[in-house]
Amino acid sequence: MDNLNKTEDDWKRELSPEQYRILREKGTEPAFSGVYHDSKEKGVYRCAGCGQELFLSDTKFDSGTGWPSFTKPVSDDSVATESDNSFFMKRTEVLCSKCGGHLGHVFDDGPKKMPDGNPTTGKRFCINSGALKLDSKE
Ligand code: FE
Repeated sequence: MDNLNKTEDDWKRELSPEQYRILREKGTEPAFSGVYHDSKEKGVYRCAGCGQELFLSDTKFDSGTGWPSFTKPVSDDSVATESDNSFFMKRTEVLCSKCGGHLGHVFDDGPKKMPDGNPTTGKRFCINSGALKLDSKE
């Protein structure tokens, strides 16, 4: 994982203030505030920082939390995880494996099955809308 040789000034120029706060400063958008929390659009969610494919709409589910939630990443190596003990909580941080941008956190309380009946990982990837860019497909 690297920073694509970008300086923080580069990131500041390329990202919106909200994207920068989330991806580069590990910020969290307020629940229900992001553009994708209740989106049902089909496509692939890419990293808003570097464009890497991160999550498929087929793995998105309604968690009721107000953040886009997925059962798994596009592939195991599209994201990286790190333990995060900030705010007196033990959580697992999820990062883009290409640019190192902060995406959100992963929890073990995901659904056991998708609406189509297929079993899932049981994980809940809780991701900020501001870290994502949906590449929709008709
Ligand atoms: Fe990225």
